[in-house]
Amino acid sequence: MRKHHLFQFGHAGTAVGAAFELALQASQRRACSIGHRCCVQRIPDFRFRDIETVANDTPACLEALRHLGRGHQQHAPERRHRQFAFQIFLQPMFGRGIAGHRHRCQLATGGLSIPKIGATDFAYRIARQFGIRLVEPRPGLVPLTFDMSEWQPFVALAGIALPVEISAGEKKNRGSFREDLLFTHRGLSGPAVLQISSYWQSGAQLTIDLLPDMDVAQTLIDGKSTLKKNLGNTLSQWLPARLVEEWLRIKGFQADARIADMTDKQLRALGTSLNAWVITPDGSEGYRKAEVTLGGIDTRELSQQTMMSTKVPGLYFIGESVDVTGWLGGYNFQWAWASGVAAGKSV
Ligand SMILES: Cc1cc2nc3c(=O)[nH]c(=O)nc-3n(C[C@H](O)[C@H](O)[C@H](O)COP(=O)(O)OP(=O)(O)OC[C@H]3O[C@@H](n4cnc5c(N)ncnc54)[C@H](O)[C@@H]3O)c2cc1C
Repeated sequence: MRKHHLFQFGHAGTAVGAAFELALQASQRRACSIGHRCCVQRIPDFRFRDIETVANDTPACLEALRHLGRGHQQHAPERRHRQFAFQIFLQPMFGRGIAGHRHRCQLATGGLSIPKIGATDFAYRIARQFGIRLVEPRPGLVPLTFDMSEWQPFVALAGIALPVEISAGEKKNRGSFREDLLFTHRGLSGPAVLQISSYWQSGAQLTIDLLPDMDVAQTLIDGKSTLKKNLGNTLSQWLPARLVEEWLRIKGFQADARIADMTDKQLRALGTSLNAWVITPDGSEGYRKAEVTLGGIDTRELSQQTMMSTKVPGLYFIGESVDVTGWLGGYNFQWAWASGVAAGKSV
């Protein structure tokens, strides 16, 4: 039986490791994880000439592979060489159709999040090149920002964290989470906001309940005769004192007002501001801070069993390059590993 060859892209990534191990265990086929130095070292009989045999029909491919080999020894120029190798080596290979399905290529280069640590749009470009549909990528699990003139009153709250209930979106696309919220100088962050950012669409509102276990207005109205402390001290039993002080100032209430002297209408307005704070972000911190990328390779373009493209046999997409995004809590790692396993088993 002729050996087939596996090429993986996704330097030191999450998904690629799982896929690679399984591909090796499942078969004794030659495999090369491009840019994944430790994997290459783990193949006992790996020789660059093994992949040269695949590519030796064009001198240009050989040249690319020599560069690739050097890239593994010299870390710095590795990225340039990998991309060069793809352009002149894999592209013609797929262009011809993958002869007799002999070769497999797994794209595990992730999404666009955190370019500083090596994220690129490589998988998306390859998908476009082969006419594979993408769901428009955008930052997810990301802090949200506000127009600075609107946010100015809240800047003094930077550093305050508290548990809240946050919601956004509508109908099927509605998300709601009980998590911690963090005020920052530019906007809102913390797990609550990272989670909801995946449901938030540009221009849409967020609703935040700063005291989710209490109907604030009703509690204050019912307590008019029994709540002996002033407004500021009463609220400070339930919320951080600095938040109360600034919140009352922003909303135009006196912290030293006696609750008994306030009208029900005033207490309802205050209660609504705390139980249903409605605010409209003007954007996010972007890929610079996003933990994941929403969107990516359309799942309808891939086999659910193997992650192989239905249009281009032999071409696989795994991990975050695919339009699958989880909540905080390990779901994204889980997807990267699980899709890597599916692809790794099938090569
Ligand atoms: C700060 C942060 C915190 C996170 N926390 C969590 C968490 O707690 N739980 C969770 O489930 N998920 C978390 N994630 C998301 C999770 O890390 C990713 O979903 C997962 O690692 C995706 O795996 P992957 O293999 O698809 O991509 P990656 O692990 O991103 O690997 C892709 C690799 O491809 C390389 N690459 C890119 N372009 C090229 C190219 N042209 N050629 C060759 N190689 C290339 C990149 O350098 C990278 O090493 C976090 C992400 C970030 C950024």
